[in-house]
Amino acid sequence: MQDVERTETGPDAGETPSPADVIKSCPLARIPRTQELLDNLPYLVMLVLGALLVQRGISHAAGSWLAAGLYFAYGVGGALWIMLFVCPYCHFYDTRLCPCGYGQIAAKLRARQDGADFRQQFRRHIPVIVPLWFLPLIAGGLALTRQFSWLDLALLLAFALNSFVVLPLVSRLYGCAKCPQKESCPWMGGCKRA
Ligand code: SF4
Repeated sequence: MQDVERTETGPDAGETPSPADVIKSCPLARIPRTQELLDNLPYLVMLVLGALLVQRGISHAAGSWLAAGLYFAYGVGGALWIMLFVCPYCHFYDTRLCPCGYGQIAAKLRARQDGADFRQQFRRHIPVIVPLWFLPLIAGGLALTRQFSWLDLALLLAFALNSFVVLPLVSRLYGCAKCPQKESCPWMGGCKRA
């Protein structure tokens, strides 16, 4: 962990400052631990609800709880994947400015990489975790098709609400809102403008 330090160097007058320059010249408020936990909560809820849906979706098959455990492990592994292959390229790497704290864990796993490749890395590696959003929908749909149950429907709706509404809203309106590199971040639509 390290505080972001002020620096005497920066872009020449008239140049558009890079996100790294913005961070260096105008330190942002450090993210409190409680807010880091809050930012991780929707993802954790998604993994728990998703694992339950996977278990119920194949409840007549042997190893349904194993499948649920594998889904949860996939979610944990996906977070680690992002820490290894995206966060080292981020300007928030190894700072207390990363909204979810991944940037600090990433610094313990891998050295900093070239920030100019951030957008490319983001686009390349985000698809690795995308199935986490859809596997439970398929499993829940299978469970409901096999035999309707209000519990399965409630789980499915809760999963969809959390994963497709709450999680993106927390990221975009809270986590990413003050990020100086949001203009180049695909998650915030930067790639569409590029
Ligand atoms: S802001 Fe995103 S990409 Fe940057 S360090 Fe944090 S989790 Fe990683």
